[in-house]
Amino acid sequence: MYNIYKVREDFPILGREVYGKPLIYLDNGATTQKPRTVVDAMVDEYYSVNANVHRGVHFLSQQATELHEASRETVRRFINARTTNEIIFTRGTTESINLLAFSFGEEFMEEGDEVIISTMEHHSNIVPWQLLAARKGIAIKVIPMNDQGELLLDEYRKLFSKRTKLVSVTHVSNVLGTINPIKQLISIAHEQGVPVMVDGAQGVPHCTVDVQDLDADFYAFSGHKVYGPTGVGVLYGKEEWLDRMPPYQGGGEMIQTVTFEKTTFNELPFKFEAGTPDYIATTALARALDYVTDLGMEHIAAHELSLTQYAMERLKEIPGMRLIGEAAHKSSVVSFLVGDIHHFDMGTLLDRLGIAVRTGHHCAQPLMQRLGIEGTVRASFGLYNTKEEVDKLVAGVERVSQMF
Ligand code: PMP
Repeated sequence: MYNIYKVREDFPILGREVYGKPLIYLDNGATTQKPRTVVDAMVDEYYSVNANVHRGVHFLSQQATELHEASRETVRRFINARTTNEIIFTRGTTESINLLAFSFGEEFMEEGDEVIISTMEHHSNIVPWQLLAARKGIAIKVIPMNDQGELLLDEYRKLFSKRTKLVSVTHVSNVLGTINPIKQLISIAHEQGVPVMVDGAQGVPHCTVDVQDLDADFYAFSGHKVYGPTGVGVLYGKEEWLDRMPPYQGGGEMIQTVTFEKTTFNELPFKFEAGTPDYIATTALARALDYVTDLGMEHIAAHELSLTQYAMERLKEIPGMRLIGEAAHKSSVVSFLVGDIHHFDMGTLLDRLGIAVRTGHHCAQPLMQRLGIEGTVRASFGLYNTKEEVDKLVAGVERVSQMF
């Protein structure tokens, strides 16, 4: 069973204080804290295995390579990809989407072609498409949403045309907490013969993800948001797509043979992994995925859902409270504003009480424009947050509100 107090002991940072107050860390949407086992994996590998992967005949290099490739298998299992050829290690979600936009755009998109994204995308699922638009003259279409923060599926259906080449949409909104009906979005796109990329930065930490069940063509996530290290992420892609896509970057590892005249490229997944990978981080990412698997993604999801619902109910009691994002299907994120209090002031004063929340536009300025606001205060929950912490957040928000 899920014992939150025992779980918390795995995260040393949760025992620290800020401004003499116990830390209440509610900024998990930005990054998560690390369990001891993840940091230990990094320290152990640096101290006892460290060697560059794939190139060495010597013992350490082979051991490091085995760890790195075993991590790829752990990722494969975690998201239920068919083969490790479909798991590309990147620096994170941002790099995964840039890789896709460049490589897919290069091979499959021409001037006048279209990509569909949504109103609630993070900048990292907007700007790479704009760069492609500037390079190739493609057009970007946007799925609208209702005031609760739910995508409008009928409008989505209408966006498809003969020129639609890709849909790229977030699994879970980092601002609204909306869990999009990704399986349905994918099946609608597939009816039109259009592949789908899912930004899973906020999906993987909070839901069980099965890329085969979703039938996602591409799925991206970041290690650091799922209790793993910074600097590593994943792009999953169906082999039949990845096989046909050109490399994103050139360098070591991604080649088969090189002459000054011509280079032939390595097989999957190495074709997309130029240069020395962060093999220490991949080991630690695998450790993080094993950690959440052992806790049980379904337990984590249930725990976070109950915290989210409780937080929304309690916050609503505060006079002047405006919750932003009330989708029927949402979790882990609560965004809000109170009266005329600026989100930055609220965040700064909560910080003084030891409560770490995020304020601002959350890298989703077009969503802010849709909502007619500049920013929000965002509390985002992780597997180690407690009901008592939500109570302290609510008490903190009440206290700050009374000061204004
Ligand atoms: N997409 C979403 C929905 C996110 O929340 C984030 C991180 N805030 C990203 C993409 C980018 O992730 P990263 O910075 O780890 O590349």
